[in-house]
Amino acid sequence: MSVDQPPSAARGPVPLRHHEPLALRTVFVAPQRAMRPVQTGRAGAAADCPFCAGHESRTPPAVLRKPEDAALPWHVRLVPNEFPVVMEAAPGGPAPDGSGLRQPAHGVHEVLVECPDHERSILAIPPARWRDAWELCRRRLAALSERSDLAWAFVFKNSGPAAGASLEHVHSQLVALDFLPPFVAGKIAIAGCASDPFGSLIRLAEAEGRIVAEQGDLVALVPHAPRQPFETLILPRSACRHFHAADADAVAAVASLTQRVVARLDRIVPGADYNWWLHQAPFASVGSTSAGIENWHWHLEILPRLAEFAGFELATGCHITTMSPAESARRLREA
Ligand SMILES: [Zn+2]
Ligand SMILES: [Zn+2]
Repeated sequence: MSVDQPPSAARGPVPLRHHEPLALRTVFVAPQRAMRPVQTGRAGAAADCPFCAGHESRTPPAVLRKPEDAALPWHVRLVPNEFPVVMEAAPGGPAPDGSGLRQPAHGVHEVLVECPDHERSILAIPPARWRDAWELCRRRLAALSERSDLAWAFVFKNSGPAAGASLEHVHSQLVALDFLPPFVAGKIAIAGCASDPFGSLIRLAEAEGRIVAEQGDLVALVPHAPRQPFETLILPRSACRHFHAADADAVAAVASLTQRVVARLDRIVPGADYNWWLHQAPFASVGSTSAGIENWHWHLEILPRLAEFAGFELATGCHITTMSPAESARRLREA
């Protein structure tokens, strides 16, 4: 990336979205992402990092920041992703091919830089600033939810090379899409088949000793069918479809619980890589008449990356784990 020229827009060809109905598979074809900088492991250094304070010209200008006063040094900033998976549809850009099999990959892809210092872990961020990072995210999701051209948005983190991080400086990503991914639509359809699916999930975790921690209305638990040891789900007890509609207490609780769960994971497996993602209901543009959307609770899934997904997982969509969920929960509670 150039230091001198502030990048104004995404580089390279417009990304496309390809769908293969027989495989129920959607693939974003985004060749420009091959050009993105990679900086992980021992090669990582603050001098080359586009996310460090002092290197703001190496990213597009911030969409949101804290503090808002640009005269003050920032401690969290949200910037457009320079190598996006989806981008705002450009006039004269490629049109859908009519079959639905190939479309422009329209949407918003941004990066939340969670700390001005070259830190690798969320555990290095002071709790009050970490809460600000979540509040910034919530505010951005609320703004995007008003747009009629967007269907759904999510936030995710890749922490460490085993989790797919290309830059080690602590950050998350926010993506808004103009369609509901089939995987998410499937989960919502299943949630519509029960009267209180998330409440049942919490009650079963309580009965089986899988609660890890609680704060206010939020609970962190090991799910009944975890893909990896120490996989954790954080969700509100009361129905709340969208994280962007969560109140200040819930934002504080998700900030606190994410740091607490990651700290415990790190004590059990020092330096463990992990992914997390925040699932919420579709935006109003999709309509909210389905029972699955009525029943939905936003939730955050934390997936440690302690073992590779291999042939068995890829061929079946099923997973194998070496630790019972109750044992994972017990060890996380006692860590
Ligand atoms: Zn950095
Ligand atoms: Zn989910």
